[in-house]
Amino acid sequence: MKVTCPNCQEKLTPKAIKNINKKGIYVAKQCPSCENWFSLSKPLTILKTLGISLLLLTSLLNMFDIKSEYSLVFSGIGFAGILVAILITFLGKNEKVDKPVV
Ligand SMILES: [Zn+2]
Repeated sequence: MKVTCPNCQEKLTPKAIKNINKKGIYVAKQCPSCENWFSLSKPLTILKTLGISLLLLTSLLNMFDIKSEYSLVFSGIGFAGILVAILITFLGKNEKVDKPVV
């Protein structure tokens, strides 16, 4: 999976990115080519986190057989959640961010 730097449009492999700054659910990465920082846009980051949480939650419900009559529904919701998260990971646009304060 390659990410495109929103600044210099350079296609980057995740391995090429050396500097990563994590702040809660937000992850900022530094482009090794132009040294500018970028990250997935905030609404998309939140949506992605929500999707993953949905999968975790519904998997847990199924695992512990809580409301097992709805297990198929939970699986469906969980699947939709992870689908959204994957789509955002692959298609989500990155945007330029300020250099994180270290
Ligand atoms: Zn760049």
